[in-house]
Amino acid sequence: MTELKPCPRCGCAPRFKSFGDVIDIWCCPCLSIRKSEVITPEERDTWDIRTASYANKVEVKALGEAIKMWNAGLIRSINSPYNPL
Ligand SMILES: [Zn+2]
Repeated sequence: MTELKPCPRCGCAPRFKSFGDVIDIWCCPCLSIRKSEVITPEERDTWDIRTASYANKVEVKALGEAIKMWNAGLIRSINSPYNPL
């Protein structure tokens, strides 16, 4: 898996949380994405309502995409059901 770069502001290791359709990566700034934004319709069809998650390989892909966005310096918050801040 791609490694998370340190926080661009303070240099600390960011924390991350995967929760339902949302991935949050945060330290001083925060990046939130919806997994459904970065996966295909076919991958969305693997959603399992009992576990509130996608198939394992889809979860891994979505987390990889979120890490790439964090590492590229994208900072963004969405209306997340899990709000660490
Ligand atoms: Zn920081």
